[in-house]
Amino acid sequence: MCSLTCALDARVNWAHYRVATIAGDIDAAIEYLQEASQSSFISGSESYEEGSVMPNLVADLPRLAASWRAGWNNRGLSAEMDLCPVCNNGSGNPCPIHD
Ligand SMILES: [Zn+2]
Repeated sequence: MCSLTCALDARVNWAHYRVATIAGDIDAAIEYLQEASQSSFISGSESYEEGSVMPNLVADLPRLAASWRAGWNNRGLSAEMDLCPVCNNGSGNPCPIHD
């Protein structure tokens, strides 16, 4: 799934979160917020692979932007660990740098 599709999903869930909050449905609000954050995280991860920048759909919302950055950083760390000879020495344990 591309970063923009995930960012759109994050933004839609964010809108649902805001409506549920206004309506006083806290359980639904929490669920929508979690979905929004997760979609933004995936968007960041996909952006890392695509080499694309943060979509405007999440850039203006600090919480979603933070999730996007976490996804981008997570994918970057995974890519780095894939190339690390110590992390891939067969022990199953990451090296001290990537632990
Ligand atoms: Zn390592």
